[in-house]
Amino acid sequence: MALWLEIALALLCGPVLWLAGAIFFDFVHWVLHALLRSRYAAARALAWPHAVHHQWIDTDLELQWRLQKRNILCHIVPEYLTQLGFTAGVALVLPWPFAAVLAALQTLVFAGILSQRGLDPNHRPVDLLDAYRPGFVPLPAYHALHHAYPDAYYSSYTKLIDGLVGGCAPLRGRRFRLQASESAFRAALEGELRARGAELIESGGRAELEVLVVFGREADLVPEVEAFIAATRLRRLPPEVWACVPEAGGIARSYHADVRVGFRTIELDARAQTSADAALRASRRAISRARRGFHYVHSGTPAEMLRGWRRFRALESEPPAPAARLRHRVEVRAGGL
Ligand SMILES: [Zn+2]
Ligand SMILES: [Zn+2]
Repeated sequence: MALWLEIALALLCGPVLWLAGAIFFDFVHWVLHALLRSRYAAARALAWPHAVHHQWIDTDLELQWRLQKRNILCHIVPEYLTQLGFTAGVALVLPWPFAAVLAALQTLVFAGILSQRGLDPNHRPVDLLDAYRPGFVPLPAYHALHHAYPDAYYSSYTKLIDGLVGGCAPLRGRRFRLQASESAFRAALEGELRARGAELIESGGRAELEVLVVFGREADLVPEVEAFIAATRLRRLPPEVWACVPEAGGIARSYHADVRVGFRTIELDARAQTSADAALRASRRAISRARRGFHYVHSGTPAEMLRGWRRFRALESEPPAPAARLRHRVEVRAGGL
């Protein structure tokens, strides 16, 4: 192939290759956390530099300014070197202009992050974190959750790796409450959440809960959801609701775009209530799909899920409260809503 053609193609493919490199780093990132959880000290030592990144912005999302330089050395530089490693692999299989364009793009992004001394859009001090909006691209509010829950939300530019490893909904140690309701699905969901290490909180105030699971028709659930939002409105991390409904409508659609609450709609198939076996299958599907990044979840077959999702997407939003239209959670405090 002529050199000019190779260069033209390399320039054209550059952004896609760059994205592939970023996904490769997300995979390395997931491995680093697996190493940090290892019972072997040598494995933990290998991933130690990444732990510095998490000390720099801790699980309370407090930024430790004294660690800023160390974060650059232990996280930003190794991330860049990992991406250059990916580029070296590209150089083995594609003509050199592809690797050159890719390295140039990676160096540009690296220089940009360095010039901000690590405070890129994903790493800025937050007062009250907004709930992130569902979608395939992780926005800064999504990466902030990785700092709050380091064993989930690994992805940086696309959610591909989180979708594959089930990193979109942490369960272990997370404080859940399941609203009282007599149903086979509720019983099955409770058992499955417990089995995955979730902490089930039966009593006490709403303010300490991380996830509230509600059951019933969506219009009837609004007071409970709004009370949860009100109880957690001054908390740094947004509350999360899983609404298990027989049929999703405009209210659920509206909550999906609501910055005050992370919201998942779990639409139950008719069989989910018929027997313990069907309820168990439905609850496992719901959890698995939530962990893979779906905010609209159908508990039925993949074909039912696809049909349900198409219908859900076409629904018109029906905001249940004036505050559902706010742009940021801090406005709740400012406006006294
Ligand atoms: Zn980070
Ligand atoms: Zn991490």
